[in-house]
Amino acid sequence: MQEHIRNFVIIAHVDHGKSTLADRLLELTGTVEKRKMHEQYLDTMELEQERGITIKMQPVRMRYRPVSSTNSESITNKRMTDSLEFVNSLKDSLFVDEYELNLIDTPGHVDFSYEVSRALAAVEGAILLVDATKGVQAQTLANLRVAIAQGLTIIPAINKIDLPHSRPDDVEREILDVFETFNLLPDRIFRISAKTGEGVEELLNEVVRSVPAPGGDAGAPLRALVFDSMYDSYKGVVAHVRVVDGVVHSRERMHLMVSRQESEIKEVGTFSPAPIPSVELRAGEIGYIATGLKEISLAKIGDTITHEREDLRAYEPLPGYKDPMPAVFSSIFPGEESAFDEMKEALEQLKLNDAALYYEQEYSEALGRGWKCGFLGMLHMEIVLERLRREYNLEIVVTTPSVIYQIKKKNGEIITIYTPAKFPDPTEIVETLEPWVRMEVMTPPEYLSGVMQLLQTIRGDYKDTQTLGGQTLRITYEAPLAEIITDFYDKLKSISSGYASLSYDVIGDQPGDVVKLDVMLAGDKVEAFSRIIPRLRAERDGRKLVEKIKEVIHPENFAVAIQATIGGKVIARETKSAMSKDVTGYLYGGDYTRKKKLLEKQKRGKKRMKAMGHVNIDAETFMKVFKSG
Ligand code: GDP
Ligand code: MG
Repeated sequence: MQEHIRNFVIIAHVDHGKSTLADRLLELTGTVEKRKMHEQYLDTMELEQERGITIKMQPVRMRYRPVSSTNSESITNKRMTDSLEFVNSLKDSLFVDEYELNLIDTPGHVDFSYEVSRALAAVEGAILLVDATKGVQAQTLANLRVAIAQGLTIIPAINKIDLPHSRPDDVEREILDVFETFNLLPDRIFRISAKTGEGVEELLNEVVRSVPAPGGDAGAPLRALVFDSMYDSYKGVVAHVRVVDGVVHSRERMHLMVSRQESEIKEVGTFSPAPIPSVELRAGEIGYIATGLKEISLAKIGDTITHEREDLRAYEPLPGYKDPMPAVFSSIFPGEESAFDEMKEALEQLKLNDAALYYEQEYSEALGRGWKCGFLGMLHMEIVLERLRREYNLEIVVTTPSVIYQIKKKNGEIITIYTPAKFPDPTEIVETLEPWVRMEVMTPPEYLSGVMQLLQTIRGDYKDTQTLGGQTLRITYEAPLAEIITDFYDKLKSISSGYASLSYDVIGDQPGDVVKLDVMLAGDKVEAFSRIIPRLRAERDGRKLVEKIKEVIHPENFAVAIQATIGGKVIARETKSAMSKDVTGYLYGGDYTRKKKLLEKQKRGKKRMKAMGHVNIDAETFMKVFKSG
């Protein structure tokens, strides 16, 4: 049984065709009937289908009997001079056996690199898919690196060969160069079209042939690796698992080794891709364990499930567990105060299925009640915000994102902060540490100078440039994470017409000369505008910020001073002129209540005005300032 299992993933840079290939595999193995097939079958989130990116693909079990034309030919053509030889070749040949193939997903993007590493730890093989028109891109390399570190068998395949401008020969050289940087040489590089299906069967046969059957001992105490989990209102937290050792049944009592939780298993089963209950899951298999637990944080990715019973229990958890660590923080507020409870519920809902999402309630004088949220990275943040907007129909104000700073204070205290409001007075600070990343930018040569110019605008150190296959350059750079969390990626895409790509790994904290920039409006500090920035850019950023604020705030009937300050010292200043009477006499002529009423009407009664001392700012204006980076 175990020797007929193949567990694998598809790794690819976004858009290189992972979901489309998965569709073809489902068809080829008859897992999903052709008439029920719609594109990107395993992408379940509306957001994914719409934007065509794969955030989370369903795991799926397929049954497959590899009858390839080459295979059957080679056997029928064989002269049966030796009947014993023939029988042996039949026995060895693939086509007598049915295989169980488990395809699971990796989230692909760097934000989820830990999740990727756990998904890869659950399988023995990976199809490395590279777009024949785009070549090797940043995530291709980042994912390949993790796959190699996990000791997986890697099958490279060039996809989209049906496209007229595909350049498979160049891309093949790039792939060879990439493998060479790891001192590896692939046996063969497949050429396929996930769209037309060309070459897909051969590729799948190669998975069966070269990916090793899972190891593990069904007789040993149970150890199941949780590589993903989701919440179900009936079954509680459903852990997606790879059973490494032992056997697990429904109704048994289980123990989670990291979170130290016990519970009774409600159900075990496999993915078709819909969940199908089964009697047991054995070593080598991939499936799910419905834990009955009520909180996803109790069955975290990377945890190990074993039996509760002392005599059946494993004592060594599977290696590689890490706590989810948010890297980027932002405050979010409802666009209208009355939506607070709705938004609270929405966050709770999202959290049910996302253990990595962190939030705590906070209060801002300017924006009212909201939450400080922690995200794994910018894509994670974007996904969460997009879902709040789309699935819960909420209007949200999001503050400028921040990284985590470690601050050593003169009184010996070391504090961790991720919100400008908590930044101590400069006179109290001995040293501030900020997270650094190693970045890899991949770009076609024609965009090199633009990319280098962009890299020079961020604080960081150039490390290295490498050529891959003559068509792609790989630039290595080290820089503070703070430099790339706002608009670096968008700028990179725009200077390279979308061709350059980025991946990064956090490499640790380093001292950073950063300061807190405050904004005063008509003499009152507006805390919501404060941000932590590098000192060397303080003046420029301060000037840009006051200019932006001047541009977007509504005029009052008096002149408003806009000042940027550091530690109380003014570094930039602008004045928003008073509204001239003739234009706005109608709107602003009346008393405050009337003016407010009119403004509210103008905003369809939806936006909320905040009097900041003497100055009124609405949520939309805040948003415009935050968006300016
Ligand atoms: P993913 O982000 O890696 O999951 O990529 P998708 O499978 O969503 O594919 C991205 C886009 O490329 C979609 O528009 C697909 O239709 C298209 N695509 C995928 N494979 C092929 C292929 O072999 N040929 C062509 N012409 N288009 C493809
Ligand atoms: Mg996709």
